Amino acid sequence: MSTQLAIDGGPKTKTTPYGSHNRFQGNELDYLRQALEQGTLFYGHGSWVKRACQMMADYTGRPYVVPCTSGSAAIHLGLIAAGIGPGDEVITTPNTDSGTVLGIIEEGAVPVFCDCGDHLQPTAAAIEAKITARTRAIVVVHLAGCPAPMNEIMALSQARNLPVVEDVAQSWGTTFQGQRAGTFGIAGCFSTNDFKHISTGDGGFVALADEALYRRVSNYADKHYDRLFGGALMQAHHGLNYRMTELQGAVAAAQLEQVDGVTARHHQLGELLRPEIGAIPGLRMLAPVPGGYNTYWWTAWFIEPQSFRVTRDRLVEALRAEGLAIGTYQRYDLIRSGLFQQRVVRPWLDDARRHYPFDQPDGRSYHYSHDQVPNHKRLLDTGFMMSIKAWHTDADMCETAAGIRKVLTAFQA
Ligand SMILES: *Cc1c(COP(=O)(O)O)cnc(C)c1O
Repeated sequence: MSTQLAIDGGPKTKTTPYGSHNRFQGNELDYLRQALEQGTLFYGHGSWVKRACQMMADYTGRPYVVPCTSGSAAIHLGLIAAGIGPGDEVITTPNTDSGTVLGIIEEGAVPVFCDCGDHLQPTAAAIEAKITARTRAIVVVHLAGCPAPMNEIMALSQARNLPVVEDVAQSWGTTFQGQRAGTFGIAGCFSTNDFKHISTGDGGFVALADEALYRRVSNYADKHYDRLFGGALMQAHHGLNYRMTELQGAVAAAQLEQVDGVTARHHQLGELLRPEIGAIPGLRMLAPVPGGYNTYWWTAWFIEPQSFRVTRDRLVEALRAEGLAIGTYQRYDLIRSGLFQQRVVRPWLDDARRHYPFDQPDGRSYHYSHDQVPNHKRLLDTGFMMSIKAWHTDADMCETAAGIRKVLTAFQA
């Protein structure tokens, strides 16, 4: 293979497109037809959302599952289970999707970011450093198919009496010490948006262990009608409409039949990248914490800047020129978003109210900067990443690894 880089006019490493595939080739169409033949698409009357929830209960080993409209809704519902309210602080990590924090803000509570280590996960000590008298919950994000270190985080949770809500949107099939992500804390919050391991277009599930919390969460997701619990269909308390339809339930049932195969394939594909890249000096590939099983929803690599003659951004340009589907890791950062910089939550409100909940009625004011999370900042500046899809081919992975080797070797200091 030529060692001249594509960015300098040499031949591209990857000359064929990454594999593509229609992911809905199981029982989706059959189940959708059956759902329509029911004559109702309402979850309370049809059988498909119930069936998907039963499959989720089997998948998680948790007896109670609440279906909902999205992963963001699922996390919001997890926070309802945790009992957060206005003015509370909720500790989480900044390297995540906005869906992790929307429910916190919606409840008038405040996200407080803790730093993460090289696994992109916080230690229990990093979380503990952010605990104050106002802290009411911890949202753990199992990122990229890699689990959080749940042994130490659950020990902290118990010691400090703080409930843990798990964001499992990116980590179907992921385990820590053999236990599924989403089955450690009080609520495991899953997403089936169209970019996740499995898709219903949009959708989500909350897996719960506690029956009383199940009633609370189920009611919050269905206008507080108490529908499944013998209630009067007279709204007794506040709730939203986060209901899943039978169409999503039917697709979810078909997708859940395939989830183990999909996540095993993600693992296999990700592992193909590893041996080729392990030996490049100054480059580290993202690895799960010890005891973690990685279902590679994406993966990332981090450079030691002094080991290369060019910037990370230049490396990424060169990798893309080779035909590789690689981008910078920069986007995994809520802190730089307008929401956390300007803190204008509801711009249509007057000055006194538009910054709520970042500005609290009691005078507390929350501001966000990278100085608060220096290791996260370092990782943002030195990383590049790639999404993995179940329909990628083995050759896609081998060519990607070869392209990374070619570029990083050429720019070695
Ligand atoms: C996708 C995602 C969410 C939100 O899921 P939606 O279904 O898009 O609302 C939350 N957290 C993380 C880490 C995600 O990747």
